[in-house]
Amino acid sequence: MKHQRIAIIGAGTAGLAAAILLARQGHQITLFERAESLAPVGAGLLLQPAGLDAMAELGCLASIRQYGQRVDALYGCTTGGRAIMDVAYRDLGQGEQVAGLGVHRAALCHVLDEALADLPHERRFGCEVLSLGEASTGTMVAFRQQGQTSQEGFDGVLVANGSASTLRPRSLVRYDRQYPWGAMWLIRPLTDGLATFSKPLLQQRYQGAHRMLGMLPTGSVPGNGGQPMVSFFWSLPVADMAHWQQDDFPLEHWKKDVTDLWPELGPLVESIGSARDLLPATYRDVVLDHWGEGRIGVIGDAAHAMSPQLGQGANMALLDAVAMARALAECRRWEEVWPHFAGQRRGAIRFYQRMSWWLTPLFQSKLKGAAGLRDLVLPLSRQVPWLRRQMAETVAGRKQKWL
Ligand SMILES: Cc1cc2nc3c(=O)[nH]c(=O)nc-3n(C[C@H](O)[C@H](O)[C@H](O)COP(=O)(O)OP(=O)(O)OC[C@H]3O[C@@H](n4cnc5c(N)ncnc54)[C@H](O)[C@@H]3O)c2cc1C
Repeated sequence: MKHQRIAIIGAGTAGLAAAILLARQGHQITLFERAESLAPVGAGLLLQPAGLDAMAELGCLASIRQYGQRVDALYGCTTGGRAIMDVAYRDLGQGEQVAGLGVHRAALCHVLDEALADLPHERRFGCEVLSLGEASTGTMVAFRQQGQTSQEGFDGVLVANGSASTLRPRSLVRYDRQYPWGAMWLIRPLTDGLATFSKPLLQQRYQGAHRMLGMLPTGSVPGNGGQPMVSFFWSLPVADMAHWQQDDFPLEHWKKDVTDLWPELGPLVESIGSARDLLPATYRDVVLDHWGEGRIGVIGDAAHAMSPQLGQGANMALLDAVAMARALAECRRWEEVWPHFAGQRRGAIRFYQRMSWWLTPLFQSKLKGAAGLRDLVLPLSRQVPWLRRQMAETVAGRKQKWL
């Protein structure tokens, strides 16, 4: 299709990446974002090799590498030091220099936004989209900006407004619920005292399935003078999050817990002055039957939110944008775009949704036997080269189907 007026809702990873690719195809893009600006919110996320391939296609690979920090493996052990998760990208065994990249969400959005800034498009920031409706010639987007409500017509709309989207067409939604566990997170400069966390590893510690904490080297944030950062995650039930905001939260007790579990975190916990320094992150499980109908398509977390255990959120958003751009380039009508997109992405989306369902309770739950099963099966699977490679391909974001 050529020269369509397309509204993209959400200037996160999916929305910005789609805007770049579609603006390059010559479409007239309007990007709606409810935040006033792309503020440096969020913490670290892991860009997988598949996501980095997509960044190369976007022309953004060199820029994101300037901010990110290389990650060679995911390493998780019990608090007793027994290795449970040890997935190295070198197990992909293709002789390539494959690695992941730890990045701050703000760096990723900044790099994508800079690429978009060079292309013709219209941006409406501080503009919340309220609803979408079918019109005879396209789709109406109703939005609120500076207290005023208006609407505007477009040939097509891409919904990319994240996991809690209320804009994805209800008829597409098979399943949508908040996951009962989330995480408190914190980002800090990678100072000398934390040098052990500058290794190119996503590191985790487990106690049963009810306790998990992690450290991800996150690279630098735009405007921070190149200071490397590290992101800390503390897993917990969503029901416990409210307590962190209350004055009676036992911060010193929690700090002792953390250093008992992982003594090298001493300098990090010392820097925490208040429980409110840590911010809550919740996740959703969202399953859609299809990823578009009429003139409305859905991409990114809005299309398939899942827990971050496999570190796929940003990758999947980038891969969706690439697939959606290809579908628009190769189809002649909007009705053809969604099946074309599904043909490219269905296998991978379903694979990662299922893996995430099965794996997440092994790391974040109070299920009896979950940790025992994990601690038996995952180390054993490392002994089988074929399984090791399957795990590496899964983490790398390259799986399209089971076998
Ligand atoms: C504030 C924030 C912090 C995050 N921090 C982390 C993190 O630390 N680590 C991690 O792994 N993942 C984080 N994520 C999730 C991660 O960014 C996504 O999993 C991944 O990048 C896929 O992105 P997405 O573009 O699909 O959705 P998102 O990144 O969620 O982006 C959606 C965008 O849509 C905007 N939006 C929502 N509703 C509307 C509306 N009605 N009208 C207009 N705009 C709207 C939001 O403001 C947001 O900018 C964060 C997401 C957000 C929004």
